[in-house]
Amino acid sequence: MTAIFGLKVGGTMLWLLAAALPASAEPLPMTEVAPGVFVHQGVIAEPAPDNHGDTANMGFIVGDSVVAVIDTGGTPDLGRRLRDAITARTDRKPVIVINTHMHPDHIFGNAAFADVPVAGHANLRDALAARQEVYRQRLTEELGAEAAAGIAPVRVDRPVGEELRVDLGNRILVLTAYPTAHTNNDLTVFDRKTGTLFAGDLLFVDHLPAVDGNALGWLRVIDRLERVPAVRAVPGHGPASVAWPGALDAERRYLTTLVEGVRRVLKAGGGIQDAVAQVAEDERGRWLLFDAYNPRNVTATFAELEWE
Ligand SMILES: [Zn+2]
Repeated sequence: MTAIFGLKVGGTMLWLLAAALPASAEPLPMTEVAPGVFVHQGVIAEPAPDNHGDTANMGFIVGDSVVAVIDTGGTPDLGRRLRDAITARTDRKPVIVINTHMHPDHIFGNAAFADVPVAGHANLRDALAARQEVYRQRLTEELGAEAAAGIAPVRVDRPVGEELRVDLGNRILVLTAYPTAHTNNDLTVFDRKTGTLFAGDLLFVDHLPAVDGNALGWLRVIDRLERVPAVRAVPGHGPASVAWPGALDAERRYLTTLVEGVRRVLKAGGGIQDAVAQVAEDERGRWLLFDAYNPRNVTATFAELEWE
């Protein structure tokens, strides 16, 4: 695709013929949800060519001396556009990339931050070793070879066992690693200065929660999360910012419905097909992507609870 631009220079119109630039020309649009806390809101959809894989929230936090990046998006191009958005807002440098968990829509933008140390849950390295190549192939199928080009193996330079504090200059971030919930490598980032919690995919809003870990474990983690003294949270999928802790209510209701529904089918001697057909049906109208994720959630939870 080409485009023609007219440019007036000293009274003379110059006609420039230019190849249309790829999406990487534009810094990502960001919302400042609290002073110095910037979020890019992904669309609520599965990765597809029309959304360029831009389906997860990501952001950065600016301290008095340096910047922390929290998730980098689903492709190297999204990572570059996030980096451009940082450069457009501050001359302070990113010194840490924090991955909230292993899922490809949150991590493949890391390729644009090859010079920056990466923090993640202590389980993240092994989780990625087992899955990263499959994720890369899937992205190639979903978005095409061009979008997947430049994906680099995601590193974890600073594994977090329980907690890590990062000082950005008069601004402390608290990174907390959790037991298995959405995945076995979920990590949150709490900005004490503004009471903002980057919850990663421990918090889904509008988008049906996806269980790739353990539903009962997730409900226990929600009980812990609820006590985080935040005033707002940034969900992994959903609006750029939501009120805390009220935003957890819908997710807890869905996961409770899921667990109770699967237990009911098991108690009645039903099989996995019965569970998929019945469980959490009354939640259908309350979420986006219900049909994409509920059958998988029921299947995973059936396997989890079968031997309970
Ligand atoms: Zn996820």
